[in-house]
Amino acid sequence: MPPSINRSLIRTLKLPSGEAVPVLGQGTWKMGEDRRRRADEVAALKLGLDLGITLIDTAEMYASGGAEEVVAEAIAGRRDATFLVSKVLPSNASRAGVKRACENSLKRLATDRIDLYLLHWPGSVPLSETVEAFEALKAAGKIRHWGVSNFDTDEMEELVGLDHGGDVQTNQVLYNLSRRGPEFDLAPWCAERGIPLMAYSPVEQGALAHNTRLEVVAARHNATAAQIALAWVMMQDGVIAIPKAGRQEHVRQNAAALSIELTPQDFADLDRAFPPPTRKRGLEMI
Ligand code: NAP
Repeated sequence: MPPSINRSLIRTLKLPSGEAVPVLGQGTWKMGEDRRRRADEVAALKLGLDLGITLIDTAEMYASGGAEEVVAEAIAGRRDATFLVSKVLPSNASRAGVKRACENSLKRLATDRIDLYLLHWPGSVPLSETVEAFEALKAAGKIRHWGVSNFDTDEMEELVGLDHGGDVQTNQVLYNLSRRGPEFDLAPWCAERGIPLMAYSPVEQGALAHNTRLEVVAARHNATAAQIALAWVMMQDGVIAIPKAGRQEHVRQNAAALSIELTPQDFADLDRAFPPPTRKRGLEMI
């Protein structure tokens, strides 16, 4: 382990299953698209693992499977220390489609199991069929848990009303300081049921790294604007942040954001700059 790393800084939260996962993970969208960047991407993910950021989020969609292959290279030899999240496309969400998609993901990931397998967004296949397919994969040991992504409150209601629907372990949604819509009803709904939100694009795909209102708060912590955006997400109860960082410097900064303690003054200033929602809005997606 690199000498500067203190793994006790890695906070965790519990999935409904009782399993603890870190509140900071590593995203992989846009990885695996360009062979010239591959070595850097693998090195970034490996550094993240060294720093204790052991949850890695990927999807069959990313680089048409290429991101899963980058992940395979990064986790080689340390599979047991990684919590792997991948996603099935709604177009593959039928009983046979989920099984096939999962087997293809397992091959690309060079592993025998996915820790958390998500439906990427709601589609036209009846949800009950997808849940049945997830449960069959669980029984076969190919996935350990399942969840959903981009589900709004009404879709979560429908899900938990289904047979085994209550086994959902997370809802991965767009959530950051500039996308606070889920706070109105989705986040409280999930919190009441102990279902963590997994916040994707927590630095708004890099845009919050250049925000002057964030820089004011960042100066108080000797931090960067991106670190404040990330610290804010990770300080929300029941929320896991999964920033993507292809550069090692960013991975280091993201890990260091875990030790930033925002003050009541910081929260108040951030509320003024990025007001919380005052009415229901449809869930946004990137
Ligand atoms: P993001 O994590 O908000 O932003 C990624 C961008 O921010 C990259 O350009 C990255 O640069 C930069 N960055 C990361 N850390 C930084 C730091 N400390 N300082 C400055 N810049 C920094 O956006 P995202 O990739 O859209 O979302 C994260 C992950 O969520 C995805 O990779 C994917 O795994 C998941 N996701 C899921 C869905 C879904 O529908 N379920 C949708 C979108 C994303 P470098 O790469 O150059 O380091």
